[in-house]
Amino acid sequence: MQNEQSGGCLCGEVRYTFKADPALSFSCHCRDCQRATGSVCASAFAVPKSSLQLSGEYKYFNKLGDEGREVSRGFCPNCGSRVVSMLEAFPDVYLVYGASLDDPSWFRPAMNIFTASALPWDCMDPALPKFERGPS
Ligand SMILES: [Zn+2]
Ligand SMILES: [Zn+2]
Repeated sequence: MQNEQSGGCLCGEVRYTFKADPALSFSCHCRDCQRATGSVCASAFAVPKSSLQLSGEYKYFNKLGDEGREVSRGFCPNCGSRVVSMLEAFPDVYLVYGASLDDPSWFRPAMNIFTASALPWDCMDPALPKFERGPS
């Protein structure tokens, strides 16, 4: 993918653009992602921080993840939408939430992670690799 991609939050205050191929994509079913999204999982992909420009006021809520490393979940302080998060374990990348893209049609999660806490009504793609915790 060489085209510039863009996305943003629900109210439009926070916007981002990047020009990079996603390095990793997944749906995370951990309890923290479920609480943070209010849904079955968080679906995201990684892009190098150096290739993504984020504009607008943006905040992070930091919490230790299941594996003892800090997860900084970002959100627009005006509308609460999350567009990117950061992981202490992978300091050079942003995790971009796939549904925040202006054109989300090309994004596909490549694996399901932390499926040990997946909700019983969650419909996961049986063709995707599954990890009970993080990918090993
Ligand atoms: Zn917003
Ligand atoms: Zn998670």
